[in-house]
Amino acid sequence: MSTVQILPAVSDYLKKTHGQLINGESYANASNTTIDVINPATEAVIAHVYSASDEEVDQAVSAARHCFDTKWKSTLPYQRAQLMNKFADLIETNGEEIAQLETLCSGKQINASRMFEIQQAASFLRYYAGWATKISGETLTPSFPSMAGEQYTAFTRREPIGVVAGIIPWNFPVMIAIWKLGAALAVGCTVVLKPSEFTPLSLLRVVELAKEAGFPDGTINLVQGRGDVGEKLIRHPHVAKVSFTGSVPTGLKVGKTAMESNLTRCTLELGGKNAAALLDDADIDKAVMGLFMTGYIHQGQVCAAPERIYVPRSRLEELTTKLAAQLDKAGIGSPLDDSLMFGPISNGPQYQKVCRFLETAASESRILHGGHPLPGDGYFVEPTIVEAASNSETLMQAETFGPIITFMPYDDESELVELMNDTPFGLSASLWTNDLSRAMRLVPQIEAGTVWVNMHTLVDPSVPFGGAKCSGIGREFGSAFIDDYTNLKSVMLCY
Ligand code: NAD
Repeated sequence: MSTVQILPAVSDYLKKTHGQLINGESYANASNTTIDVINPATEAVIAHVYSASDEEVDQAVSAARHCFDTKWKSTLPYQRAQLMNKFADLIETNGEEIAQLETLCSGKQINASRMFEIQQAASFLRYYAGWATKISGETLTPSFPSMAGEQYTAFTRREPIGVVAGIIPWNFPVMIAIWKLGAALAVGCTVVLKPSEFTPLSLLRVVELAKEAGFPDGTINLVQGRGDVGEKLIRHPHVAKVSFTGSVPTGLKVGKTAMESNLTRCTLELGGKNAAALLDDADIDKAVMGLFMTGYIHQGQVCAAPERIYVPRSRLEELTTKLAAQLDKAGIGSPLDDSLMFGPISNGPQYQKVCRFLETAASESRILHGGHPLPGDGYFVEPTIVEAASNSETLMQAETFGPIITFMPYDDESELVELMNDTPFGLSASLWTNDLSRAMRLVPQIEAGTVWVNMHTLVDPSVPFGGAKCSGIGREFGSAFIDDYTNLKSVMLCY
């Protein structure tokens, strides 16, 4: 056991009262509603934050709009990139403090906090910084006939859309916020972020660093609160775009609210019930390690994680037996113990939901490994392997967002695509085979935003990411984000 020592800066941060960060200043207004921050490993209340009042939401958006109009949209692209790179450096310099805050609030294993919320967040931010100097339009030649020797030309400009509201889930509070921040800042938008009520502190600490990085006050603002605060933010008339990541039911509400308020542009990165399919030649040991690493990391609370796995009937027992052996080797306990792989589920409501899925798995399907909550304090459950007999079982259809992978045998490869597509979701999928030509024939038939071959869940800033079907609208990363964060203006000239 090697438990990480909590830094004095982290203990001090937890003792302070926290609230909003607006126009470069922190506000903790004691007359507002408070939200308890609960450590899911112990169930102890470790801090409080004040939820934003209506006035504070308005102040945050107004600060962002003022900064957009007077400073950020006219800051030179190279200067934007430099500030973003400095911001990334500061996230890394303060990385251990942010990672510990994250682990205490979300139960994310400390090494995962360091890897995703610090290293990945910084590298995504640097990727987007590179785009700041590369936002461009096109030159076009209209075909108007020339009556008296006049000529025509046209070009397009990519103009920053304005204030972006970034609404963030609890599973990766910093990394997912950086996906939105990076895109917005690169093109010249300002931002108001709302973290999840379950994980308000790690992102707040990151946003505090924006001042030190040298961003003009008002470039990045943050308001705390539950869904009602998110809704007020979306309804604000000066919010030009909503970038939301979260569940499908909330995404539907967010999309509707955005349309109703001002036809506000909206991208939705939503949940999934991601399929992985092993073909009969798949390397089982590789698949075991791949599913182990990507299906259970952060207790399966990863939107793209594989949750339902189709396996040739003759190979299912070998696969699940080897996977169970891996799960037995990985310890479960304090997320501050960097020798363990599994910590708690991130919050009470999600823990209750996962426990209900374990009960359903026991009654409707067959539990092959694990299947129980752990006794004592903290929201711990055993990493679980389930076998289903039919695609209609709950565990093959509903997103559990927990450490549960369900396996289903198949006999005939011709039914595989139909099984994989038999879901309202379409975030991601994977194929496991050594036969790339079979994989390449299947890829176009799979209804998902991302299809991996012999890997799963890994995202890279250069590769667009987002959902098909009910898993969302829009794409993050690559150059795909530019459409969503800019207005395309056409300019036509006669000379
Ligand atoms: P959630 O939908 O409950 O909440 C997400 C955010 O929306 C929170 O900040 C919440 O306070 C806010 N919110 C709630 N109601 C709102 C409303 N009416 N208006 C505006 N904001 C509102 O999701 P969660 O439980 O925090 O996150 C888990 C879900 O997120 C899972 O379904 C997971 O698959 C999904 N997710 C998707 C991606 C992706 O990239 N596709 C990434 C991570 C998580």
